[in-house]
Formats: sequence, C-alpha cells, structure tokens
Amino acid sequence: MEEKTLIFGHKNPDTDTICSSIVMEDFEKKSGNKNCKAVRLGKVNKETKYVLNYLGMEETPCIEDVEDGTNVILVDHNEATQSVDNIQNAKILKVIDHHTINFKAPYLLYYRTEPVGCTATVLYHLYTENNFEIEKNIAVLMLSAIISDTLLFKSPTCTPEDEKVARELAKIAEIDIETYGLEMLKAGTDLDDFSEEELINLDAKKFTSGDLNYIIAQVNTVSIDDVLKKKEKLEEEIKSVIERNGLDLFVFAITDILNSNSQIIALGDRVDIIEKTCKLENNTAFLEGVVSRKKQLVPMVENNI
Ligand code: MG
Ligand code: MG
Ligand code: MG
Repeated sequence: MEEKTLIFGHKNPDTDTICSSIVMEDFEKKSGNKNCKAVRLGKVNKETKYVLNYLGMEETPCIEDVEDGTNVILVDHNEATQSVDNIQNAKILKVIDHHTINFKAPYLLYYRTEPVGCTATVLYHLYTENNFEIEKNIAVLMLSAIISDTLLFKSPTCTPEDEKVARELAKIAEIDIETYGLEMLKAGTDLDDFSEEELINLDAKKFTSGDLNYIIAQVNTVSIDDVLKKKEKLEEEIKSVIERNGLDLFVFAITDILNSNSQIIALGDRVDIIEKTCKLENNTAFLEGVVSRKKQLVPMVENNI
C-alpha cells in the first residue's frame, strides 16, 4: 500500500473547500493514487450541509493537525496561516487553488492555479484534460462549489469560464442552477443558532502582509439589519479576538447575497487603512456592490497599508 495522502482545504471550510477536497480524492483515485482521503480543518457550514444532504453524503473527517512527514494535497488555499497548524511538518505533494500565491516550499511539487472564481473550475479542467469521467455526484459537488464561490455568478470573482463550466456541470448533475443555487445559498444564511463569537469565526481568514496582521471575516445574509441587531456584542467579540491574536485590524463583512452589498464593521489600531476607502461611522460602513473578500476587501487593505 502506498503512503497515505490527506487532502484538505482551508480552515473555517466553505463549500468550495469541502466539495473540492472530495472531488480531488476522486480525481486522485482515478489517477491511481488509491490511498488518499479528503479531510477538513473545521466545522461544515450550513450551506455545505445542504449540499451533502442533497447527495446523501457523510461529512468528511475533521483533523486537528498532521503527523510529521504526512503527504498532503492542498485545495482552495495556499497560505500557511489558513492551513493546518503544523503544515510546515507535512510533505505537500500538490496545491490546487485559485488565490493569490503566498506559498513557499523547499522542494518540488505540483502547483496548479488559474485566475478563476473557484477551485472546482480548476478541477473540472483537470478532469477534462485527463479524459476522466465526471459522475453525477461529482458534478453536483463541483457545481455547488462554483455557485457558492461566485454567489450564483454575481460576484466580481466570477469569470466567464466559471459560468461556462457550471452550465456544463448542471447538465450532468441534472440540476436547475437558479433554483438549486438560491436554495443552497439561502441555507447558508440561516444564522439563528450562532453566538456572536461563532458568527465572526464562521468564515474568517487571517492574512499577514509585512508587519500587518489582519482578519477579514464574512457572513452571508438576506437581511443585513438582522445581523446588525447584534452589533454591540459582535464588536465585543471582535475586540477580544484582536486582543488574543495581536491583530492590527479586523474587518467583519455582512454580505447581502440578494442585493450584492455589504456592511462592514472594522476595528483595530489600523482602521485608518479602511478609512482611506470609506468613512466609518460607529465602526461601520455600507459598501455598495461589495461582496468579494478576495477581489474587493483584501485589496481595500493591501492597497492602503
Ligand atoms: Mg474557500
Ligand atoms: Mg474557493
Ligand atoms: Mg468564500
């Protein structure tokens, strides 16, 4: 038996991270790497649960860390701060991603990235290049990932290729994209049973840029006002995260997936960075047309440090 390979996406897993890890396991097995397993680095969110339920599929196992020297494949991320804690002890065989590259390894590996809106779009290309069949459940997983990352093609991160691939996958999956997609996205906006602490952690990503350490967290909703009712308590939690992690900045984006806008709450010693783009009133600002962390919120920080 060959050595085991673990396949995983980023912490605070989203639908692309979970679905693409499962799809990558299928791809690896079709490529002859039989001893590989998709795992995850955190709780499955409600949107992703909707997808797994639709397929009658079990959640992948959760891991805390990896044993020294474990073979791993990273999907949907490449930054160490978003990966398993002891990633430096693993042997990274492959990276399949669609994010800015902030990655270094002192050995050769397979690194595949494309300027597209979703890891699943890259995976679709790998299947077609290798003439591998895409089974119906795999098509559902890839399609769901694309719908999630592109907010049903409305995010500025969505490329024509993502939409083209999604339409192909929908035929195999026998799914009406608009109906299924909206149901899936809405399932992810049910925030009722989350504490404020959980809300700011659900989809939080940590970034380091020179000396600056910051987190941009995001929740999807159909009512920004509903989430804003918890503003005071949310701010308390954000402040304690800043304190505990020695952060310079924390941006919490509440994204209205129906109207494609976001309200942000920004706290930390370096809110001046955010104020170069928009005026904060009571630590908050409404950002018309802003839905993407990668294309809009991260540049808002990076271009103004
Ligand atoms: Mg992701
Ligand atoms: Mg992604
Ligand atoms: Mg996302």
